[in-house]
Amino acid sequence: AKLDGRGTFRFFEPAMDERMQARRRLELDMRQALARREFQLHYQPQLNLETDRLVGCEALIRWQHPERGTVPPGDFIPLAEEIGLIVPIGEWVIRQACRDAAAWPAPVSVAVNVSPAQFKSDRLVETVISALSNADLPAGRLEIEITEGVLLQENERTLHTLYRLRELGVRVSMDDFGTGYSSLSYLRSFPFDKIKIDRSFVHDMAKRPDGEAIIRAIAGLGRSLGMTTVAEGVETEDQMRRIRAEGCTEVQGYLVSRPLPVADLVGLLAGR
Ligand code: C2E
Ligand code: CA
Ligand code: CA
Ligand code: CA
Repeated sequence: AKLDGRGTFRFFEPAMDERMQARRRLELDMRQALARREFQLHYQPQLNLETDRLVGCEALIRWQHPERGTVPPGDFIPLAEEIGLIVPIGEWVIRQACRDAAAWPAPVSVAVNVSPAQFKSDRLVETVISALSNADLPAGRLEIEITEGVLLQENERTLHTLYRLRELGVRVSMDDFGTGYSSLSYLRSFPFDKIKIDRSFVHDMAKRPDGEAIIRAIAGLGRSLGMTTVAEGVETEDQMRRIRAEGCTEVQGYLVSRPLPVADLVGLLAGR
């Protein structure tokens, strides 16, 4: 610590300065990343447990940074949300995912994550309509995944947007189910097509005595509400066996496959 010119102690400022600068740099880089085509989509397959067939894929964004290498979404999506860049990035994701899916050798669905700021922009529905029509992809093959964050400030506009997507024939999933405070009440506000059970529940399953009871309860809830249930983050045969036994509809996780570059996914779908 040292006394600065104005006579105040500066303990943490150098470190804070560095953090602010790193953030500024990331922000500037991100503003150019779209134009420089540094974003990519990887796709993680989803397996139906009744038919043992791949029924869909989740699109997961990757940033190929020229100096940093691959930046995972957790390191830039929150900042993109904060500064509004998530809207153009999210539009690119929807358009690219529709284009990719239209060219796949099997008519599996493609799921896209839409974050709260993007959901609130007026453009979402128009973007979806134009992405589907440009790619010539049937609306029934597109899924929109939203988290509780979208419903947090639930109002008429949020619901209106959800119903407009639904009218188009797009499916809507509740992501990370069970991690927030009011997951259950959100199921009441909108008839979701899918519930994605957060991977923390899958991981807890074998470790806690009541772990399986929770999965069983959510699977049952899904059945009674007519919603598909997807267990996320399934990594082991043991977890898979338990998930099957509890009656979930689908699984997604490293055991089935890691998220894949699109060319590898096409190979998998073509049975190569
Ligand atoms: P998410 O939507 O819950 O996506 C699932 C995350 O779990 C992915 O991380 C995926 O790679 C990871 N995962 C899949 N299977 C397993 C497994 O068996 N074990 C473990 N430990 N992890 C598994 P990823 O790709 O790093 O994405 C993290 C989050 O970033 C996503 O969580 C989502 O919230 C966000 N995200 C990713 N792509 C997009 C996007 O295009 N738009 C928006 N708005 N958010 C995105
Ligand atoms: Ca997701
Ligand atoms: Ca999730
Ligand atoms: Ca998540």
